[in-house]
Amino acid sequence: ILEIRNLKKSFDTLEVLKGVSLDIKQGEVVVIVGPSGCGKSTLLRCINGLEGIQGGEISLRGEIISNQTKNMHLIRQKIGMVFQSYDLFPHLTILNNILLGPLKAQDRDKKEVIKEAEDLLKRVGLFEKRDAYPRQLSGGQKQRVAIVRALCMHPEIMLFDEVTAALDPEMVREVLDVMLELAKEGSTMFIVTHEMQFARAIADRIIFLDKGEIVEESDPETFFTNPKTERARKFLNVFE
Ligand code: ATP
Ligand code: MG
Repeated sequence: ILEIRNLKKSFDTLEVLKGVSLDIKQGEVVVIVGPSGCGKSTLLRCINGLEGIQGGEISLRGEIISNQTKNMHLIRQKIGMVFQSYDLFPHLTILNNILLGPLKAQDRDKKEVIKEAEDLLKRVGLFEKRDAYPRQLSGGQKQRVAIVRALCMHPEIMLFDEVTAALDPEMVREVLDVMLELAKEGSTMFIVTHEMQFARAIADRIIFLDKGEIVEESDPETFFTNPKTERARKFLNVFE
């Protein structure tokens, strides 16, 4: 459902993505790994239309994504994104944070959205927190709310950029478990993570990005036990 062809992205003279091509199919979970600064976050931001691109093409179900696209706000609703810093609105309750998009941007029926939001909150164990404010939640709880908020928009694909990187270790698990469950249910997901065990467990496919290029693309078993390239091998050594 997501197609990326020869994507090029630079910041001034710095070439960050040097012709990246990849496809993600419906229901597929693709994990992207690679050294710091190789362009992972930039790639996600391009997919979400947050960055202009210098070459190539990105499309979601055949609709071209670029920040010049007139209907970009509609396309962006089909892409759920969760970042490292859960940017919840501090002055809104948890429930209202989740309702905002579906009610304001999608104009959906309020009763129905509340029901859905509450069901999702139950699933991630946070129903009791629906009237609390973000500052009253732990990092792991806020991150689970951020995931629920994205899901409530019914996106075609979910993008995750190091969603556990800012969390205390004991809160990482609860967030990863939510993601594992989504994957099991058939959500289409594109994940950036430094949690290699998790990557191995959740991925249908691993993409290794280095210096703005896809160097290797494998099933998780192959990638983690027998990487094809020297660069991937070196990268994985750091985690051992
Ligand atoms: P990390 O694992 O540390 O998050 P990353 O793979 O996500 O790294 P990016 O954030 O995509 O890396 O950055 C890729 C390169 O682009 C880096 O060299 C970074 O300094 C540069 N870069 C990112 N955003 C900008 C920007 N807005 N302006 C200029 N340079 C940028
Ligand atoms: Mg990053």
